[in-house]
Amino acid sequence: NKQLVMALLVLENFIGGEFVPCSSYIDSYNPSTGDVYCRVPDSGKEEVEAAVKAAKAAFPIWSSKSPLERSRILNKLADLIEHDLEAFAQAESKDQGKTITFARTVDIPRAVYNFRFFASSILHHRTECTEMATVGCMHYTSRAPVGVAGLISPWNLPLYLLTWKIAPAIACGNTVVAKPSEMTSVTAWMMCKLLQKAGVPHGVVNVVFGTGAKAGEALVCHPDVPLISFTGSTLTAQRIMEKSALHCKRLSLELGGKNPAIIFDDADLTQCIPMTVRSSFANQGEICLCTSRIFVQRAVYSEFLKRFVAEAKKWKVGNPSDATVDMGALISKEHLEKVRSYVKKAQAEGARVLCGEGVDSLALPTGNQKGYFMLPTVIAEVKDESCCMQEEIFGPVTCVVAFNTEEEVIERANSVKYGLAATVWSSNVGRVHRVAQRLQSGLVWTNCWLVRDLNMPFGGMKASGIGREGAKDSYEFFTEVKTITIKH
Ligand code: NAD
Repeated sequence: NKQLVMALLVLENFIGGEFVPCSSYIDSYNPSTGDVYCRVPDSGKEEVEAAVKAAKAAFPIWSSKSPLERSRILNKLADLIEHDLEAFAQAESKDQGKTITFARTVDIPRAVYNFRFFASSILHHRTECTEMATVGCMHYTSRAPVGVAGLISPWNLPLYLLTWKIAPAIACGNTVVAKPSEMTSVTAWMMCKLLQKAGVPHGVVNVVFGTGAKAGEALVCHPDVPLISFTGSTLTAQRIMEKSALHCKRLSLELGGKNPAIIFDDADLTQCIPMTVRSSFANQGEICLCTSRIFVQRAVYSEFLKRFVAEAKKWKVGNPSDATVDMGALISKEHLEKVRSYVKKAQAEGARVLCGEGVDSLALPTGNQKGYFMLPTVIAEVKDESCCMQEEIFGPVTCVVAFNTEEEVIERANSVKYGLAATVWSSNVGRVHRVAQRLQSGLVWTNCWLVRDLNMPFGGMKASGIGREGAKDSYEFFTEVKTITIKH
């Protein structure tokens, strides 16, 4: 078996500007073949300790650089990633199961843009000043980086979400210890190879690979890491809150969703249907912003359902490296089983599966027979209280139900514990604003989906998160503010 081991990609931690081997490793699978193809360090307290030490040592120099100096380095790093865009896209697709097209057009371009965006936005912040002339005082605020930031990211948009944290953290002058998901670590490791060339000083960005329970928790519990920026599940966030309470850490939490799409009878169905298929199944439904509850007004319900199912059936599922494929493999065998179990539960409750899992057959290329694939699945006649309408499935499964009135649909859309994103489809401008105002959701898209301006606050309400990310929001999170009063 020695030959097989030799052929595996073996990652190393990146600490203080050096690649460092680890004493033990975890297997990482290629989701589209089911084969182990990579070994990821199984880091723990010791590795996290070394990374935090390196980040602490780099902080005084990095934090004293001007925003312009840091901005130049971030731009250089963006250029280097962009130069290797194809290699990054291939790696992301292989590691995560997503289509090469999605990795090429969404993941990696956005990772590049994250660095460019914060390289620019860091140059444009202003602090506040007030005067109290009657007592001869003026007050102003000053902002300073906090220190070593702990960054923990999930497996669905690996480099995209990790750089969405690294870029603002270092643009503000912090140093970081990042821990990507143990299931998708490759592109973070590739990025480490470019840091020195970009001019990122040793110790400013450290990456420790490993599981959440070992490496993640060691980072969360480390007394010298005063802030944690986390994207992942609500359950993990609860654990992180508990563990970090001891040190009163500053937390930014971007969590799960159970996002509604509300389709009124005056919606432009020609635009709405393909977009809602996309919002349900893009990236195998593994995006926190994916639609999973579709409320359709009674008058257009049957027409919508018919056309929606026909459109979903057009989606080609197969080898992610085939550029004509719309949907790749799910992240893991366990996750595929979990997603499938929801479809079974819905059936047992009397819901109707209109296409996909258990209804249509999936023909896969020979090399992908052991991959973690399933078809886009549409379920109708599901009760609002069913687990399929309440829990985050995080896969290619969407539920379609009918509603009668605006008032009723707002209440039903809000009747889940999550509050991340919602979409509203209607040609009535007044209604669009009215409904958007009343939805308990951090983001509302009307007559579109996933159009993002990174300047704007991003994040969820209720169990979908605490805090927001964006130009101003990330700046505020990654800096500590001070009010200074001068009497003259
Ligand atoms: P997860 O919570 O299992 O893991 C996320 C990260 O946390 C991983 O790096 C993991 O190793 C780490 N982790 C796990 N346990 C930990 C612990 N005890 N201490 C510290 N770190 C720990 O989530 P996942 O399955 O990787 O990702 C899917 C989830 O992420 C979904 O719920 C999805 O909605 C959510 N998500 C949210 C957003 C958003 O912006 N709101 C974006 C993408 C994904």
